[in-house]
Amino acid sequence: MNQLDIAKFGGTSVANYESMASCVKVVTANPHTRLVVVSACAGVTNILVEIASGALNRAEVTDRIAKLREIHQQITAQLAPEVQAKCNDHLEEHLNEIKNLAAEAMMGRSDELTDRIVCHGELLSSYLIVEVFKKMGFAAEFFDVRRIMRTDSEFGCAKPLVEVLGFLTQQHLLPLLDKEPIIVTQGFIGANTEGMTTTLGRGGSDYSAALLGEACNAATISIWTDVPGVYTTDPRLVPHAMPIEELTYLEAAEMATFGAKILHPSTLVPAVRRNIPVFVGSSKEPEKGGTWVKPETKTYPSFRAVALRKNQTLIVLVSPKMVGASGFLANVFSIFAKYGKSVDLVSTSEVSIAVTLDAGSNTSGIPTLSEEMLNELRQFCHVKVENKLSLVAIIGNNMSSTAGLTTKAFDALKPYAVRMICYGASNHNLCFLLNEDEAVPALVALHQHLLEHEE
Ligand code: ASP
Ligand code: MG
Repeated sequence: MNQLDIAKFGGTSVANYESMASCVKVVTANPHTRLVVVSACAGVTNILVEIASGALNRAEVTDRIAKLREIHQQITAQLAPEVQAKCNDHLEEHLNEIKNLAAEAMMGRSDELTDRIVCHGELLSSYLIVEVFKKMGFAAEFFDVRRIMRTDSEFGCAKPLVEVLGFLTQQHLLPLLDKEPIIVTQGFIGANTEGMTTTLGRGGSDYSAALLGEACNAATISIWTDVPGVYTTDPRLVPHAMPIEELTYLEAAEMATFGAKILHPSTLVPAVRRNIPVFVGSSKEPEKGGTWVKPETKTYPSFRAVALRKNQTLIVLVSPKMVGASGFLANVFSIFAKYGKSVDLVSTSEVSIAVTLDAGSNTSGIPTLSEEMLNELRQFCHVKVENKLSLVAIIGNNMSSTAGLTTKAFDALKPYAVRMICYGASNHNLCFLLNEDEAVPALVALHQHLLEHEE
């Protein structure tokens, strides 16, 4: 088993029958790929989140359920008649369940109910891709990941209980991986110790794959998506973006944290714990190769990539009492900690602190900046909250120890109003906070200045 590869396919990779067939080809081309982890078909989680919001009326729910039927029936339509009938029956069972849960959501939404609704996306895609494997002549078996993916009860962004997962994997999953059929399971979803369904937060399937990789002690984790690897920036925003052959864990983690959509930010944590190399490639064009994320790389360029993260909230806290006083930062951070808010950037002056927070990756998509927390902060300082900001980050190596690096970045950003800068804490990044509408042009300019020319 020590050569084991785990292959994770994202929503666009399992969007329809043809895409699923490409996944099957990718999996079966590598004899070491024994475990397959899938996301919901493209668009499905968004629809389910909408249903779970409780904000739709009866007619709208019916419309969304019809849409879900259509997405999945496109796949079942390609299967042999008797398999098709079985799959359509299975689909109807799920849709019926979703309909019942939607009625519950209309009476009042909750994160717990949201997870019970959204899990159907991954359950359906994994069920159907097993049939695509079979149709193409390969033995494959469905495995409900909730049997092993134990999490806490923080619905919508549950934390895995890594030790329990390891133990349950040994008991229930590893014995299956030695046998013939390829095992297909779900990303994103899990269950708490009471057996209630949880989710790891939007985009969490990558994280699931990495956690399973760790639990199985896999040799490699392959994240198959719709782009051939990690690029120097998002190619949809900057057409000159170039593929990157290899990245260190540190660089990739910075990229994920700062908004490169390619990997869920937590993905690398389990891989790093076990030193498992992670491959990122396109399931539609596997021949194009991809990016390896590894402990070490051949080169360590100053500038490796630029990334953009939207939906940033800036909180400026001003307290005249801060002059010469101690404990103000500790107070502020203990309040953030109490409300479970993780602070990204921090900048301080004599009487004020500016911090940025992310609007959050909770499955429900509802920002979690509570009035209660703000009131607590207001008790000892003036609080100003600003939204509609974006973070642009430069990712590279030896950034805070190489002379002259910042000049190039500041030159590129000359036309833009930079709201906040963070530099010095990490050798791997330099971050700028900008107004939302200036962020993309700033990203383009940075890419051009730092990555399209020689270093
Ligand atoms: N289906 C989930 C989502 O859309 C998880 C994932 O795709 O990784 O967020
Ligand atoms: Mg995804």
